[in-house]
Amino acid sequence: MTERDQVTTSPNGSPPPTALRARGLTKTYRMGAVEVQALRGVDVDFAEGELVVLLGPSGSGKSTLLNLLGGLDVPTSGEVWFHDRRLTAGDERALNRYRREHVGFVFQFYNLIPSLTARENVALVTEIARDPMTPTEALNMVGLGERLDHFPAQLSGGEQQRVAIARAIAKRPALLLCDEPTGALDSATGILVLEAILTVNRTLGTTTVLITHNAVIADIAHRVLHFADGRLVEVRVNASRREPAELVW
Ligand code: ADP
Ligand code: MG
Repeated sequence: MTERDQVTTSPNGSPPPTALRARGLTKTYRMGAVEVQALRGVDVDFAEGELVVLLGPSGSGKSTLLNLLGGLDVPTSGEVWFHDRRLTAGDERALNRYRREHVGFVFQFYNLIPSLTARENVALVTEIARDPMTPTEALNMVGLGERLDHFPAQLSGGEQQRVAIARAIAKRPALLLCDEPTGALDSATGILVLEAILTVNRTLGTTTVLITHNAVIADIAHRVLHFADGRLVEVRVNASRREPAELVW
């Protein structure tokens, strides 16, 4: 059985297509005379609908990889493919469009607009999307249907992060890229945020790449990728992926 067979299979049993493909990715940051090799040649595929967790010590290159996958930055060498399209370094317009149409980002800090309600924060994004959810649908999906008209200051950190998730998914992106979304939250609140991400992955089939230190989520992910010193050093496929309901957090 290959890795790909573990992922949700289509009705005829064939593995789902590859949504994202990274080939030979390297990234070197230059600050004056100092060079940092953040990625040293990473090859990895992400199947449609897959939930993949990235683990590794601080500085191992996880955020750098996520930024390259999401077109926020360009590699020093190597390629990123979204389905049959290669992201082209230097073509800012194409990268912009890719990010706007296909990628939802969630970061450690929520960056909501304080003067707008939850619903209005989400609506800002749906205005530019082609086939958006309504803000109410998106907020319902992350369990915030009761908080539509609350302002960020009236919400807990975990609730604000869930508004940020609703904002990221309301445009129905193909990809959801999350960089330590629970990094600023206590573990009980963080769990609700991770559950919201799981719900999105399951109900919308959004290909999800998640950087988190939460060990339990690794049991629910299709695959866990371990990074060290800019390299992908270990891939763990969850053969018996557990259902969220079975989890003891
Ligand atoms: P992780 O997310 O696993 O903690 P990062 O991808 O953020 O790792 O960082 C990998 C390496 O690249 C680290 O040594 C970090 O200091 C360096 N780095 C990351 N971003 C930048 C940047 N914008 N400029 C210079 N160095 C950076
Ligand atoms: Mg990081």
